[in-house]
Amino acid sequence: MTTALITHDAFDGHVTPDGMPERVARLEAVRAALEDLDLLRVEAPLATDDDVTTLHTEGHVARIRASVPQSGFAALDSETFLAPGSEEAAFRAVGGALKAVDMVMAKEVKNAFVAARPPGHHAEQATPMGFCIFGNVALAARHAMDAHGLDRVAVVDFDVHHGNGTQALLWDEPRALVVTSHQMPLWPGTGYPDERGPHDTIVNVPLAPGTDGGAMRAAYTQQVFPRLRAFRPELILISAGFDAHAADPLAQLRWVEGDFAWVTRELCALAAELCDSRVVSCLEGGYDLDALGASARAHVLELMEAP
Ligand SMILES: [Zn+2]
Repeated sequence: MTTALITHDAFDGHVTPDGMPERVARLEAVRAALEDLDLLRVEAPLATDDDVTTLHTEGHVARIRASVPQSGFAALDSETFLAPGSEEAAFRAVGGALKAVDMVMAKEVKNAFVAARPPGHHAEQATPMGFCIFGNVALAARHAMDAHGLDRVAVVDFDVHHGNGTQALLWDEPRALVVTSHQMPLWPGTGYPDERGPHDTIVNVPLAPGTDGGAMRAAYTQQVFPRLRAFRPELILISAGFDAHAADPLAQLRWVEGDFAWVTRELCALAAELCDSRVVSCLEGGYDLDALGASARAHVLELMEAP
């Protein structure tokens, strides 16, 4: 079976002000890096309000719609902006993640990579944050439970920043195991190991600045994979941020392309062992364009090679 690449030109309508690291050129770099690969290319559909309000408040959705400017930019906070095309992009970013779940659950594809903007893992119930509008991956996890009846869904977030939004959106959800590795200290400042949730389904793996691929692999082998095995997920969702790369300007970890390939390969092997190989991966961060393209390519090549 093949790997789906779910994306949409409308993501390029989510323009951000000059100088912002989360920018249109990121997705252009990812698309260019994947251009020659034999992937099933699928357009990301629009999510509905009902899809989004499973985890976000109606007030949050209304605020986003009301804030979209006719021209120029509207600032939601000091780094999260809306442009005229941002509403469509945000709803397609959710829709792409949900579509990926549907395709993988229906066995139309082995696994899927959702190349979308805006990213999602910092958005909380009623708060856009850190370039993120809606919690794409958390909403996909919820969709897998609601629409496909899954009882156990795992989210693995290897973006260099703590996935505070995914953690907040799934905090009370016993059917979701949320594992996030991230540099600490680093914005947003959350993600301590004692943040475990009421059902002990939140797993935070902080990594010191300078952590290289070897130390990362040890942390995943010792702290992440045993928790995944014990949880026995029926689907593994990946929040694939590539800003733990040594070249990334926003953080100080020292992973390289081969490290993203390794963690992807290991997660796909676990998925083959535990959940019929079902993996859905969604783009989060990654701000050095060359490193982002090369790392996303390494990640997708492993999805394609997955057992
Ligand atoms: Zn990040």
